[in-house]
Amino acid sequence: MRSIYFDHSGTTPVHPAVAEEMYKYLTGDNFGNPSSVHHFGLQICKKVTEARDKVAQALGANTREIVFTSGGTESDNLAIHGAAHTNKKWGNHIITSAVEHHAVLNTVKALGKEGFDITILPVDKYGMVSVDDVAAAITDKTILITIMHANNEVGTINPIAEIGKLARERKIIFHVDAVQSFGKIPVNVDDLGVNLLSLSGHKIYGPKGTGVLYIRKGTRWRQTLLHGGSQEHLCRAGTENIPGIMGFAKAVELVMENREAESARLMVLRDKLIREVTAIDHVTLTGHPTQRLPNHASFLFKYIEGESMLLGLDMKGIAASTGSACTSGSLEPSHVLLAMGIKHEDAHGSLRITLGKDNTEDDVDYFLEVIKPIVEKLRAMSPLKD
Ligand SMILES: *Cc1c(COP(=O)(O)O)cnc(C)c1O
Repeated sequence: MRSIYFDHSGTTPVHPAVAEEMYKYLTGDNFGNPSSVHHFGLQICKKVTEARDKVAQALGANTREIVFTSGGTESDNLAIHGAAHTNKKWGNHIITSAVEHHAVLNTVKALGKEGFDITILPVDKYGMVSVDDVAAAITDKTILITIMHANNEVGTINPIAEIGKLARERKIIFHVDAVQSFGKIPVNVDDLGVNLLSLSGHKIYGPKGTGVLYIRKGTRWRQTLLHGGSQEHLCRAGTENIPGIMGFAKAVELVMENREAESARLMVLRDKLIREVTAIDHVTLTGHPTQRLPNHASFLFKYIEGESMLLGLDMKGIAASTGSACTSGSLEPSHVLLAMGIKHEDAHGSLRITLGKDNTEDDVDYFLEVIKPIVEKLRAMSPLKD
């Protein structure tokens, strides 16, 4: 049977060259602690600096502005906690959006419980945050704005550069979760006007449990979560995950090498998917029709449960997703779809196809062939359909 992976927003396979790079730092003499002053340590310290340099270059940042973390979730927590607690004597107001990843949304909500004043902005029907809404929400107590670059569930790209300009004018710290956008669309820290930016390794063919937090020089930010040694220029305590860091940097190098051509290739497949799937009765696109990730196609199928579609597809060897990977398995529909104004019962019929480097047009054609009978069969037995 065919086996097709269409869930690249959930995670990606580790690129063989990344695995090879990591293996080098799990074996032989490459086990040193970069904090040690002997040659075992110094040799690794040099490699970590090279890796940091590579990531910095990809973001248009300086080497010392890059902090390696244990993933997107840690980067988001570190960024938001640090910015909030370091600046609370100047104000206690934090702005975010209703469609953020839970790593951001739940962190901001936790700060709300601690006494911070939080504003969770609504989004439009495409899941997009409005620059005017951000402007209107800012008060003289606002210390942090945290808005995602591209949404993981519906692929919509937010007007980050404009929000960044606003934040800079008002001297408010701006954090962006760029986990989904990095490697697919341009992510340059100066163009976007961010102070803090999060990345995750396993969304770009790197290892799970690795990430980066970019911290702009001069940003009023201290780490407030992990107390310990002075690693990562005092921004993240704990002995570095060397194989992870080296694998992350290799993944960045590979994804940047080929970004534009690969995004253009995937966009053609994405558009074919969108065209053909929305031609099926009672199927609509979710997310923005044009301001969306090049690899991302997401839909609502009326009168069907997303879970049943996933099972049907899986029996044909196709791995896709419904809602978000973290919430599927629970009966709660996606907070992103609900924030977009989609009704509870309709939100259950969501299907997300996220393409990646090994997908071909043949895969897309096979999907289009098998999805139609699955939909017909499910609708025929659906109690939802009159
Ligand atoms: C996957 C994801 C995260 C979490 O990253 P992990 O490395 O899995 O912790 C955060 N934000 C977004 C938008 C994501 O898609």
